[in-house]
Amino acid sequence: MHNKTISELSRLLQTRKISATELAKLFLARIAQSDLNAFLHVDEALTLAQAADADANIQYQDFGPLTGIPIAHKDIFVTQGWRSTAGSKMLENYVSPFDATAVIKLRDAGTVTLGKLNCDEFAMGSSNENSFFGAVKNPWDKAAIPGGSSGGSAAAVAARLAPGATGTDTGGSIRQPAALCGITGIKPTYGRVSRYGMIAYASSLDQGGPMAKTAEDCAILLNAMVGFDPRDATSLQRAEEDFTQNIDAPLNGLRIGVPKEYFGEGLAPDVEHAVCAAITEYEKLGAKIVEISLPNTALSIPVYYVIAPAEASSNLSRFDGVRYGFRAKEYGDLQDMYRKTRAQGFGEEVQRRILVGTYVLSHGYYDAYYLQAQRIRRLIAQDFQQAFTQCDVIMGPVTPTVAWNIGDKADDPVANYLGDIYTLSTNLAGLPGMSIPCGFGIGDVNARRPVGLQLTGNYFDEARLLNIAHQFQLATDWHQRTPEGV
Ligand code: GLN
Repeated sequence: MHNKTISELSRLLQTRKISATELAKLFLARIAQSDLNAFLHVDEALTLAQAADADANIQYQDFGPLTGIPIAHKDIFVTQGWRSTAGSKMLENYVSPFDATAVIKLRDAGTVTLGKLNCDEFAMGSSNENSFFGAVKNPWDKAAIPGGSSGGSAAAVAARLAPGATGTDTGGSIRQPAALCGITGIKPTYGRVSRYGMIAYASSLDQGGPMAKTAEDCAILLNAMVGFDPRDATSLQRAEEDFTQNIDAPLNGLRIGVPKEYFGEGLAPDVEHAVCAAITEYEKLGAKIVEISLPNTALSIPVYYVIAPAEASSNLSRFDGVRYGFRAKEYGDLQDMYRKTRAQGFGEEVQRRILVGTYVLSHGYYDAYYLQAQRIRRLIAQDFQQAFTQCDVIMGPVTPTVAWNIGDKADDPVANYLGDIYTLSTNLAGLPGMSIPCGFGIGDVNARRPVGLQLTGNYFDEARLLNIAHQFQLATDWHQRTPEGV
């Protein structure tokens, strides 16, 4: 049962072969037995109450594709019942008085919340090791990181602790952990999913999206998540769209752009091998390959690591020991209370980014760093528009390597930043991007570690991306593989 997709579970629920309560209990039991540290907060009574609601609705024939489907939320989305910590000591015991818009929308669609998922502190990281609540283990190999910052979400779906989950992606945090855990994830066009109630990291880059086993499941979840929200100033108004509608369209004549910059130095041969094999598979499905260039790719790292910390330093100023959560126990005057609270409440990486952010925004450095980064950001977005005159979709690796061992890069922030090379530019440009499982590494250790294929589309091309991903999943079985013992 736990290996079934959302669309399969939906049919079983609607034909009353299983109840929402039984399904919720089954996944709660799996969560209780798991040693991955993927879940941070579980509340059986709350979950079962939601499941009972779903069962009542099904009984009255009042259901949709997500009624009774258990899912879990990255702990960046605030929830009224479960604590909302963003993986930080700063919010260790914080309970939100309201639900995030994405959470409300998924609830309105009938989903049952299983709990909250571990993540890097304030979504800053690529390995989930920056969580105050400890690292998450990769279900494929418990010595490995699951990726980050949505590491708990990816690990939970891969270990079948939940059929689907939410994630957020500021610079790759949906796509990268999806790739390293062998699942499917989509980051929509900036502005499609409301940021209201998503604890802010870098507001011009943050975007929520679904993570699940298949593209079809992601489409079903995304249908419920998108939509204009007056409470998010950058939310977009778009006509309603069913992301499952064209999922079966054939790929004949599809033009796949393959950026030469994504296949240079730094890309591990085993990842390259799996990604190239996947692109060859697409040729068999009728697609044509076009070599393209995204010349400013390498600059996306310095640009992102100026802009994201700049925005973070502003967003995180609200954690002052007064308005939310943690306050230092002992302090002198007010200034000292702020200092001690922030020094004790934030982890090392978060403090590093606040320092970088305030530095690049400060008088005398603003023009040299922040403004310059904004200019290059524009060039990066233009590169994509140029590329999309030649192709319909861009494909390449999500990450330069498969998952590394827990602890290996924990003391080396720059090594972590460099690993974001293929994902950052999508966010800088505001484009939609996906990761789908396309193989494994090579060698004794890496053969158990998944590889992801990245699909990047033009603005609002989510439906097309999901169609392209779904066709691959009809032709291959990488998305059906499970870690040993799952
Ligand atoms: N790894 C990137 C960072 O540390 C991206 C994180 C994200 O997308 N939230 O900022």
